[in-house]
Amino acid sequence: MCKKKCICKKIAKLLVVIGGLNWGLIGLGVLLNKNWNFVHTIFYSMPTTEAIIYLLVGISAVLMIIGCRCKKCPGGTCAVPPVEPRM
Ligand SMILES: [Zn+2]
Repeated sequence: MCKKKCICKKIAKLLVVIGGLNWGLIGLGVLLNKNWNFVHTIFYSMPTTEAIIYLLVGISAVLMIIGCRCKKCPGGTCAVPPVEPRM
């Protein structure tokens, strides 16, 4: 596996985890008749921000599926050579 994950992959993973946890809480909240959508709870006064977070979570999921295309991740995989002289 990749040891040197690029920033975008780290952020993507974090956002997917946040989205997954939030979704789990929503499900649990519905079963217990409570509103545990914590993204909504935090950002309810800023619907646009809330929407952007959902969008970012979705984009992150896509990024994790298709792989990152940044300089550190050629071909979408984390095929970073052990020693990268430049940068
Ligand atoms: Zn990358």
